[in-house]
Amino acid sequence: MLGMSITGRDVLMVGGGAVTARRLSRFIAEGARVRIVAPELHETTALLVRRHEIPWRARPVRARDLRGAWLVHVATGDRRTDRMVTALCERRRILCAGEGARGAVRMTAQVDAGDATVAVASRVGADPRRSAAVRDAVADVVADLIADGRLPLRRRRSGMGRVDLVGGGPGPADLMTVRARRLIAEADVIIADRLGPAAEVLQSVTSDVEVIDVGKQPGHHPVSQEEINRLIVARAAAGLRVVRLKGGDPFVFGRGGEEVQACLAAGIAVEVTPAPSSAIAVPQAAGIPVTHRGTAAAFHVVNGQGELGPTTLAALADPGVTTVVLMGVAALSRLVDAALLHGVPPDRPMAFVESGHTAEQRTTWTTLAAAVADADEVSLRNPAVIVVGDVAIPGLLLPTSTTMSEAASA
Ligand code: SAH
Repeated sequence: MLGMSITGRDVLMVGGGAVTARRLSRFIAEGARVRIVAPELHETTALLVRRHEIPWRARPVRARDLRGAWLVHVATGDRRTDRMVTALCERRRILCAGEGARGAVRMTAQVDAGDATVAVASRVGADPRRSAAVRDAVADVVADLIADGRLPLRRRRSGMGRVDLVGGGPGPADLMTVRARRLIAEADVIIADRLGPAAEVLQSVTSDVEVIDVGKQPGHHPVSQEEINRLIVARAAAGLRVVRLKGGDPFVFGRGGEEVQACLAAGIAVEVTPAPSSAIAVPQAAGIPVTHRGTAAAFHVVNGQGELGPTTLAALADPGVTTVVLMGVAALSRLVDAALLHGVPPDRPMAFVESGHTAEQRTTWTTLAAAVADADEVSLRNPAVIVVGDVAIPGLLLPTSTTMSEAASA
């Protein structure tokens, strides 16, 4: 059996019923140039015909309708007509698919794995239900393999280069999306940060994949953003599939926007895969909900290294708002001073959550007034998320000594 692309090719569909409707959406998705001959149309077929401006002849099929078609799909609901059309195709050497399965072409039940497709067909005449059942079982296995990063999806022949900015989440590989795992399995080049799941995930990458570590540590930037942009663009322009793997979400203080701009400016195809951001996921790992009914109705996320603008000061002062500070360890005393000067009550609850979602996770419960001394005492270290607000009251949801997973297993 063969695989055939019908993109841009003339496909005639004979019959306008439910089977046609199903196949029509698939042919449209494949980019075929479809036309239909049928006395009348099923509701869904009619909808698709209107929406996609499919040419439709409202009458029974005639032999000359077949002219020019690469593929004829026949499903009229009338066996004699189906057979007649199938026989006519056979004589004229036109590929034919459809009801009765006498035609040469069998529809596959298929599951996509990135830009590869796994298709199931029957060797002994069409049996769409069995094909679909086999496909579903295969799809489960494919999904598991992608989720574990074990499906060898990487292209062996080069093609068009592209860039994917992939969010890795706060740390554990199983907090990554299935799409993130698939894109990593497809990548020729992985440009990774130090934060997030990089270390764990990159262990399973084969040695022929180029891995570039551009890990940024606070105060220590081994590779500049300009250099990262240049690397990404150059590799993709050479026809490679580039994954830019980041901690958390690419668009939350990840400079993902600049990388997208660099790709677009160079005419490189680029897409972004979202992920749980540490701004939400790290407090959550310590049992702190960034919003909580009756306690906090909004949250404000800020980069601790930047200026403390009026919006951040207003958020810190508002008892109904949670302020989440990323990259805030070095700037903690500056933040505390500014808040106290602004009139934020000294007993405003605060929490430090270090290395959230990892084995080293540690939470320190404190207040605005005690924060600097407490940070000193515990030797607060990066990466950490600082939470300010009533959601950081110790024991709001859980006993303070436990993490979410400890509470669940207790
Ligand atoms: N794009 C990322 C944030 C990058 S800024 C995201 O959406 O999560 C880097 C900051 O994120 C760190 O300084 C720290 O404040 C926070 N961070 C990331 N992962 C963390 C983790 N596992 N535990 C604690 N903080 C983390």
